[in-house]
Amino acid sequence: MKPFDYVRPRDLAEALALGSEPGTAYLAGGTNLLDLMKIGVARPDRIVDIGRLPGLAGLDWREDGGVRIGALVKNADLAYDARFQRTFPSVAEALLSGASAQLRNAATVGGNLLQRPRCPYFQDLASACNRRAPESGCDALGGETRRHAVLGWSEACIAVNPSDFCVPMAALDAVVEVQGPGGAREIALEDLHRLPGQTPERETALEPSELIVAVRLPGQAAAVARHSRYLKVRERTSYAFAVVSAAAGLELGDGAIRSARLALGGVAAKPWRAREAEAVLAGGEPSEARFADAARAALAEARPSGENAYKIELARRLIVRVLQQALAGAPETLPALPGSPLAPAFGNRHAA
Ligand SMILES: Cc1cc2nc3c(=O)[nH]c(=O)nc-3n(C[C@H](O)[C@H](O)[C@H](O)COP(=O)(O)OP(=O)(O)OC[C@H]3O[C@@H](n4cnc5c(N)ncnc54)[C@H](O)[C@@H]3O)c2cc1C
Ligand code: SF4
Repeated sequence: MKPFDYVRPRDLAEALALGSEPGTAYLAGGTNLLDLMKIGVARPDRIVDIGRLPGLAGLDWREDGGVRIGALVKNADLAYDARFQRTFPSVAEALLSGASAQLRNAATVGGNLLQRPRCPYFQDLASACNRRAPESGCDALGGETRRHAVLGWSEACIAVNPSDFCVPMAALDAVVEVQGPGGAREIALEDLHRLPGQTPERETALEPSELIVAVRLPGQAAAVARHSRYLKVRERTSYAFAVVSAAAGLELGDGAIRSARLALGGVAAKPWRAREAEAVLAGGEPSEARFADAARAALAEARPSGENAYKIELARRLIVRVLQQALAGAPETLPALPGSPLAPAFGNRHAA
C-alpha cells in the first residue's frame, strides 16, 4: 500500500481546510476506502478521518415529519431506529439488505452514498478503466458485462452504482447537505451521482474537497409510508450486491393511486428515478395491468451494454412485484431477510 498521512480534525472547519489539499481523501467508516487503498485503486497522499467529527451522527426530526440524518450515522443505527423504520420503511429495508451486519455497524450514511463502483475491471489495476485512469479505455466493454448498466451508460463507462440505500432515497426526494470551502449548498440526491458521458471519472456533483454533512428526507415522503417496499434481486440471499433492485411507494385514496414513487438500483451509474412510470401510476386504479404498463415505461430507454439484456426483463418483473408488495402494505416489522422478491406480500399491517 502506498504510504499516506493520517489526520483527525477536531471540527468541520478544520476538516474542510485539511480536505482542500490535493491528494486528500475523507475517511468515514472506511469499509470502502480502505479496501480500495489495499488493492491500489485509491492512492491518497493524506487521509482526513472525519469519523469523530462532532454534530454529524444524529437524527433530527422536523416539524413537517421529515428527518435530517447526519452523514456519520451508521447504516445499522438508521435502519433499526424505530421511528425511522415506521416512517420510511423502504429505506430501512434497503439498508438491511446491504452488506453484512458487521459492515452495516461500521458504514456511514455519507460513505454509503459515495461508495465506488464494483466493476471488476475498475478494481483490477491490470485492466483499462476510464474511471480509475481517465481516457485509458474501458475493458468492461466487450468483456464480462452481466452485472453492468442497461440505462444511461456511454461507450466510456458501463458501470452501475452499487448502493441499496440510494435507491429509496432517490425515490423519496432526499436532499444532500454539503459543506465546502465556498460554504454550504444542497444537492437533490437524484442529481448527486452523474451519468458517465465522456467523463466517467467525475462520479458525483461534489467538488473535490466538499464534505457531505447530512441527508434530509422531506415530510412529504412519509405520505407513502404505509405502502412502500424495497426489493433486491441478488445472486445470494444475503451479503451480495444488487443485480437489480427497486423501491416503490404508493399513496392511496378512494381506490386510486394518488401519487407514486419508483426508483431502480443496479441498472445505471446512479439510482434511477422512474418518473415516466410514476406518471403512468398516478391517478389510476392499482392493477397488475397498470403496474405492467409502468414497468414498460420505466425501461423504455433501456438497452444492453453487453450480455445483460436479461436485466431489462428482470427489472420489469421486479417493478411489478415491488408495486404489488407496496400495495399489500409495508410490513409492521421488517422481515428477517428483507428485500427478497421471493418473500410473500405481508398485507397492510403497518402501524404508522
Ligand atoms: C463485502 C462488502 C459487501 C457490501 N455489500 C453492499 C451491499 O450489498 N449494498 C450496499 O449498498 N453496499 C454494500 N457495501 C458497501 C458498503 O455499504 C460501503 O462500503 C459503505 O456504505 C461505505 O461507508 P463508509 O462510511 O465505510 O465509507 P468510507 O469507506 O469511509 O468512504 C467511502 C467513500 O466516501 C467518501 N466519504 C465518506 N464519507 C464522506 C462524507 N461525509 N463526505 C464526503 N466524502 C465522504 C470517502 O472519501 C470514500 O471515497 C459492501 C461493502 C463490502 C466491503
Ligand atoms: S465500466 Fe466503467 S468502471 Fe468498469 S472498466 Fe469500464 S470505465 Fe472502468
